Amino acid sequence: MSSNWQQQVSLKPYNTFGIDVRARYFTQARDDAEARQALAEAAARQLPVLVVGGGSNLLLTRDIDALVLHMASRGRRLLSDDGERVVVEAEAGEPWHPFVQWSLEQGLCGLENLSLIPGTVGAAPMQNVGAYGVEIKDVFAGLTALDRETGQLRDFSLAECAFGYRDSLFKREPGRWLILRVRFALQRSLQAHLDYGPVRQRLVEQGVEQVTAKAISEAICSIRREKLPDPAELGNAGSFFKNPVVPVELAERIRGQYPTLVGYPQADGQVKLAAGWLIEQAGWKGHRDGDAGVHRLQSLVLVNYGQASGAQLHELAQRIQADILERFGVRLEMEPNLY
Ligand code: FAD
Ligand code: NAP
Repeated sequence: MSSNWQQQVSLKPYNTFGIDVRARYFTQARDDAEARQALAEAAARQLPVLVVGGGSNLLLTRDIDALVLHMASRGRRLLSDDGERVVVEAEAGEPWHPFVQWSLEQGLCGLENLSLIPGTVGAAPMQNVGAYGVEIKDVFAGLTALDRETGQLRDFSLAECAFGYRDSLFKREPGRWLILRVRFALQRSLQAHLDYGPVRQRLVEQGVEQVTAKAISEAICSIRREKLPDPAELGNAGSFFKNPVVPVELAERIRGQYPTLVGYPQADGQVKLAAGWLIEQAGWKGHRDGDAGVHRLQSLVLVNYGQASGAQLHELAQRIQADILERFGVRLEMEPNLY
């Protein structure tokens, strides 16, 4: 066994739900060479590999009988600058929010609405992370990934990533691609996205006269700190369900019974419903089964009050899914990756 591998490691510090399962083997990759070496050794021993970044989009329901490879590579750089458009690149293990802050300190705009999302740069393309009307696809300039089947490096363009709502090629081909570094095309001048939720209102409340990317970032951080539980204090993986996109007829049928239904028309004619609203209407907000619960302020967020297992959280999620299907005829899809 490689000297860098540890055995029977608790994954509690490596997932934001704080679930205490064990990895049979565990190692970290600080650069491409270490990542390649870990994958090659695992392949030689016919061991499956689970890649983790910040563990903020995982639900671990059992001990992991595999090598857990923690991406710990660091580095961020400017690749090109034409005076307006600046391409930056960051290694997969870079923590996301500090990377966003670094880009703002360089005077670059584009990532401000994605402030305070936990996790790493390398995982961000997995579900095309998004918040407050911006997704990474809007500023994406390419990424480099290792094909775990062939050992070849491949550069992906925007079109090749097939980004969708909380979705990508990488999510649809689980276990195939190890994302090594990601590039973003940022701008020196600001194109502000303020028409989402309470962002504009918060800037007014904060007395901001000149809207800058930093001011937007600060407003969004303050909103998020109020609304979302901090995983350091209360285990969670952010939104537990995706917002369902349904045919307009179904949305109208629900609205007939619930006139306050929250829905957003989509370009394809369908309607995106706020999953949190459905869950709240169904009476789940603040519900608790032992240490597995639905957050008391944010019904889209499942929480671990301490000793909940992943299986208990999964069971609670399945009960919510069944109830929402029965009440509204809407299928809720889980967002975190289940292992
Ligand atoms: P992990 O949880 O470690 O991994 C997620 C998946 O990606 C796993 O399948 C893993 O195997 C795979 N993976 C990780 N790294 C790599 C890599 N380098 N190459 C290939 N595969 C990899 N998400 C949003 O979209 N918007 C939000 O606003 C948002 N807010 C959140 C708020 C809170 C409080 C929390 C806890 C979560 C939130 N999330 C949000 C979810 C989560 O933070 C993001 O999805 C984040 O990008 C996950 O990054 P991670 O490094 O923690 O990934
Ligand atoms: P919110 O502002 O209370 O809004 C509720 C839902 O309505 C959101 O999920 C959002 O969908 C949708 N919405 C609001 N304004 C919209 C608009 N103008 N056009 C289209 N859809 C709109 O949501 P929140 O829970 O506090 O989260 C705020 C933002 O952070 C959202 O973008 C959310 O996705 C993101 N976030 C994501 C996670 C995660 O883990 N994925 C966790 C926390 C926050 P969308 O979700 O599709 O944007």
